[in-house]
Amino acid sequence: MPASYEADNRFPGGLRRGEDYIQALQDDGRRVFIDGEEVSDVTTHPAFAEAVHSIANIYDIACDPANRELMTYPSPATGVPVNRSWQLPRSRDDLVARRGAIEKLSESNFGFMGRSPDHVAGFFVGWAMAPEVFIEDGNTRFADNLVKFYEFLRDHDGYITYTIVPPQIDRSKPAHQQNPSDLYAGVVEERDDGIVIRGAQMLGTGTALSDYVLLSTIRPLGPGDENFAINVAIACNAPGVRIYSRRSYGQAASSVYDYPLASRFDENDALVVYDNVLVPWDQVFVYKNIDICRDQWWATPAHVMGNNQAQIRFTTKLRFMVGVAQRIAEMNGVAALPPVQALLADLAVQASAYEGLVDAQIATATTTANGYVEPGRQALYAAMMMQSEIYPKMLNLLRELCGGGLIQLPSSVADFANPDIRADIERYIQSPDHSAQERVKLMKLAWDLVGSEFAGRHDQYEKFYAGAPFVVKMAMYRNYDFATSRRLVDEALAGYDTTGRLPKTD
Ligand SMILES: Cc1cc2nc3c(=O)[nH]c(=O)nc-3n(C[C@H](O)[C@H](O)[C@H](O)COP(=O)(O)OP(=O)(O)OC[C@H]3O[C@@H](n4cnc5c(N)ncnc54)[C@H](O)[C@@H]3O)c2cc1C
Repeated sequence: MPASYEADNRFPGGLRRGEDYIQALQDDGRRVFIDGEEVSDVTTHPAFAEAVHSIANIYDIACDPANRELMTYPSPATGVPVNRSWQLPRSRDDLVARRGAIEKLSESNFGFMGRSPDHVAGFFVGWAMAPEVFIEDGNTRFADNLVKFYEFLRDHDGYITYTIVPPQIDRSKPAHQQNPSDLYAGVVEERDDGIVIRGAQMLGTGTALSDYVLLSTIRPLGPGDENFAINVAIACNAPGVRIYSRRSYGQAASSVYDYPLASRFDENDALVVYDNVLVPWDQVFVYKNIDICRDQWWATPAHVMGNNQAQIRFTTKLRFMVGVAQRIAEMNGVAALPPVQALLADLAVQASAYEGLVDAQIATATTTANGYVEPGRQALYAAMMMQSEIYPKMLNLLRELCGGGLIQLPSSVADFANPDIRADIERYIQSPDHSAQERVKLMKLAWDLVGSEFAGRHDQYEKFYAGAPFVVKMAMYRNYDFATSRRLVDEALAGYDTTGRLPKTD
């Protein structure tokens, strides 16, 4: 195990191909657990292998010379092409280019992989845009660490996920009053060569598949919580890191035909336990500082850049949902009916309104004190809030459209292999111009989108991944332009006096 990331020989440097990414994961000593057993190799285990391949595909897309302009930009340090998701935007054009790259990657999984390598990259980009926030009493040590680690990830095409929320144990008490006090992940020892972390954090989406995991907290901390006020990067194979995966929907998927989404894009979520994990000092970015731990999210563009990526990804998912709905309406022979067209329009309204808010983030982008450009916050937080509301609404509209056709399906692809069963399926589960195989294929895709266990997880994900809805509303409250709204009201009130008289006009 390397003492520091600079000695981490899993990364050749420059853009990584899918096979480089897979090779780095193989037998790297990470400890992942599922169904009562330890996984020896996530790249071949049925619970993880397909998700690993979907991430590898993302690396291959970025590496493809045909996508060079779309997906990469020259590293300011080395001049070699690196993934555009690491670019610090200096103009609206840079934001447009970034959006194009993220959109391309998200289309490879139809928006179903939320923690692809470009997600936490957005947070690092935001931090690297304002490293002064990490300076402590004039000491630039942690800010320097942050920038160097960002550059390492950028120039080596690293994949980092994050755990920034403590496990749900007793939310009525602050971190240090949990019993025992080392339940939430925090510092338990300071050494010459680093700090020791003990405790757990949720919910490491994709952590079983990534190279590094970022450990911090986005929840407000108070006096006494200093040990939890950290931001550190930890190698997923560091001694003491244990990754407890939830049930795998990918492994449970009986075939790609039966579960086309779950079988390929189940990126896993996990409880991550840090059991006396030594973090070298150069991987420490915030250390026992409650103010900086808070400011890193709100006084830098990190939250904005990370969530802008998430929203570009979500836009792809919404477009996909509209497409599935239209295909089903056509297959069922109801696409020409006005009520069905109205339902499709309802779906399109949600998708367009959301997409408009992503457009608006570029239109209202602002220049930061350091000369970078960040997406408009008002539109970003409005979209984040809408997301948790429109996703269940879209799912519901899709269910309404699909009716019982989602359920009246062969139990699995194996039914087609039995000639007797197949004859009945082909006769009774078909549509004009569509064979039974095609009809079942589309309906099974729709079920994996709205009804399977994978679908349920996605409903929960879109509601919570960026924080509980009441937390997102607070972010919206802090970022809405209330001044303009108040001015309008003031102008209206100034237009007449308390006797109801209008001002004199000449
Ligand atoms: C599928 C999925 C993937 C995720 N992936 C990641 C990840 O990769 N990394 C990561 O760090 N996190 C991840 N998360 C965690 C996510 O960030 C949290 O779920 C989110 O921050 C909400 O925190 P919580 O789950 O503890 O809910 P809580 O904060 O406990 O809130 C749950 C509900 O309790 C009520 N409530 C709680 N506190 C209050 C209060 N003070 N006032 C009013 N109501 C309250 C509200 O109804 C709220 O909706 C993921 C979550 C999901 C569901």
